[in-house]
Amino acid sequence: MTRSALQVTNLSIRFGGLVAVADVDLTLNPSEVLCIIGPNGAGKSTLFNLISGIYRPSSGKVELDGRDITGWPAHRIAAAGIARTFQSSRLFNDLTLVDNVVIGMHTRTRSGVLDALLRPRKARAELTEAAERATELIRSISPHLYARRHMLAGALPQADRRRLEIARALASEPKVIMLDEPSSGMDDRDTDALMADVRRVMAERPGLSFLIIEHDMRLVAALPDRVAVIDYGRKIADGQFAEVRLMPRVQEAYLGQ
Ligand code: ADP
Ligand code: MG
Repeated sequence: MTRSALQVTNLSIRFGGLVAVADVDLTLNPSEVLCIIGPNGAGKSTLFNLISGIYRPSSGKVELDGRDITGWPAHRIAAAGIARTFQSSRLFNDLTLVDNVVIGMHTRTRSGVLDALLRPRKARAELTEAAERATELIRSISPHLYARRHMLAGALPQADRRRLEIARALASEPKVIMLDEPSSGMDDRDTDALMADVRRVMAERPGLSFLIIEHDMRLVAALPDRVAVIDYGRKIADGQFAEVRLMPRVQEAYLGQ
């Protein structure tokens, strides 16, 4: 049997009286795209915060490539190979697209590209090399972003900001990448381009897995291998979208909104 890329077992977190994530089990296989869906406030982003080490679970386990990473701090989890984007944008608006991606590399660079960027004379050669790698990465991910690589991130429209965040997350060469509502602020055309970007990235990186929180049912129907549904902190369904969407519990969760 192949080892799962990410294994979440009985994961829970409590905020005072609220159990925001309750006994969630989740398996993400290598080279798989798994979408997490569910109503607003169901606990999807909190689940990402638990997996990426922003919150410590009250109980349960998170394993990456068979290694127990439960309770590790976020920077260590990032270095171990889990990258993510956030529901709200976290780009450096005053830096170019290339420099934003260079910063994404620093979780894997020994001497710290961030440091080099702030003090250019100290490590100019390393920085030049990092900028070349960032440029190449942008080119391979999205021809659209590549054409805009010298623009300031602050000047980008919303859809491009989302795509740049994915590029930056990929710069750390993760094993698992988690996207929190990547299509928010996108129209259908942008969403189609996003899906094409994800497919291109997957084709070039065997073994890389995606965990994607998504509300756009066009994307959910077309992109993932599997879908898991979260409602009131619990996983209520897991399987092919075509089957999951017909389950009464899933329909109730959405109608109840
Ligand atoms: P979703 O991403 O599915 O819309 P969230 O994971 O953001 O939902 O939120 C799930 C629940 O957990 C919500 O009721 C939210 O208010 C609560 N929650 C999330 N983070 C915290 C926190 N740090 N403190 C208290 N409650 C929180
Ligand atoms: Mg959320």
